[in-house]
Amino acid sequence: MHDIVTNSTIKTLELPASSPDLSADDGGLAMHEFAAELYPICRSITGDGVRKSIELIGRYIPLTTCEVPSGFDVFDWTVPLEWNIKDAYVKNSAGERIVDFRRSNLHVVSYSVPVHRRMDLRELKEHLHSDPAHPDWIPYRTSYYSPTWGFCLPHNQLLALPDDEYEVCIDSSLAPGHLTYGDLRVLGQSSDEVLISCHVCHPSLCNDNLSGIAVATALAQRLSRMNLRYSYRFLFIPGTIGSIAWLAMNKAHVSRIKHGFVMTCVGDAGAPTYKQSRRGDAEIDRAWKYVLGQAGEAFDIRPFSPYGYDERQFCSPGFNLPVGCFMRTPHGEFPEYHTSADDLSLVRPSSLADSLAKALAVVDVIEHNRSYLNVKPYCEPKLGKYGLYGTIGGRSAGEYQMALLWLLNMSDGDNSLLDIAARANLPWETIKQALRVLCLAGLLKPAD
Ligand code: ZN
Repeated sequence: MHDIVTNSTIKTLELPASSPDLSADDGGLAMHEFAAELYPICRSITGDGVRKSIELIGRYIPLTTCEVPSGFDVFDWTVPLEWNIKDAYVKNSAGERIVDFRRSNLHVVSYSVPVHRRMDLRELKEHLHSDPAHPDWIPYRTSYYSPTWGFCLPHNQLLALPDDEYEVCIDSSLAPGHLTYGDLRVLGQSSDEVLISCHVCHPSLCNDNLSGIAVATALAQRLSRMNLRYSYRFLFIPGTIGSIAWLAMNKAHVSRIKHGFVMTCVGDAGAPTYKQSRRGDAEIDRAWKYVLGQAGEAFDIRPFSPYGYDERQFCSPGFNLPVGCFMRTPHGEFPEYHTSADDLSLVRPSSLADSLAKALAVVDVIEHNRSYLNVKPYCEPKLGKYGLYGTIGGRSAGEYQMALLWLLNMSDGDNSLLDIAARANLPWETIKQALRVLCLAGLLKPAD
């Protein structure tokens, strides 16, 4: 799908002979360990940190790496210069590194231009960022599109800085290079696609960025071993500019995308949250609502808004794709958001495992959702003739018997299995089991 861009580079990574299974039934431990491996890498919207992260993801799934050159126009945007950084510090007059990039990559404003000179405290403070609301945490700041430099540090440390002559150094480079992203297509029977996307552009932030990467990689691994109806397109992209670049290069093909969701912040202890696509009632929106509702635990459904992650681009009016966003606690609603406290302790293996399970449940709904026709629609068929009588007519009917009745009543070719399951408030497995039996008995047949 990328060959329309002749000056971008595409390379498919070789999958190691045996790669650990991130989707293993281990309570999310393998996914958490993968997040820990990615955690120290200094990522941004371009540069070697993204490249290294894509390479590590490529150890689990046969990812294709795409490199889009700086200066390439993508809709209203231009792929920026590539940013890389080797080191950065603020030293006091005694030569001590009082702010040190090597201790946390969050200390440097992402996309800082290079600088190396001495200055007094007053001038230094113009380039320091802190968060008084959380005075012990390092905030995360970026300046992608206006050339400046800066350091981030705990507010308490900033307040305690003495008058001194400071040496500041940011050993960074901003030069023509590439925007890097990873792309994987898991083939199913149909060329129609389900899009699953996550961002790979944040440095050492765990829930916001690494949790989505870990769960998406595990999901891709699991789907690669299944017989699928749809093909699945996994994107590991820098936020905003990455999805804009991908959409620009794949504009002619996006009509293949029938369903999709962005995954982010899927590792904290909060309840599952699904943000609807711009359409609001797309099949993917209804599938997520049904799956979260069936779990019998707290959950939240949010309407679409044009603020958030890359669903903003996928749901821009020219595309209006059926793509929502799956999260636990939404961005900006957990105190650790965009600070050094969004670390490996905020992300729980059990939450990663639950997020993967929910995503797999949604995939199962999408894979099997079809409309059927009742072959004997005039009054109820006499179920005893087919050995399906069960307890109906005696005591209250169980879920399985109710699923038989709902499927027979609602299968008029218009209602899909998901419509029926949601309306009847019955578990998906029960609906699938009743469907199999009714099809075998010759009472239901596919509508198409
Ligand atoms: Zn973020």
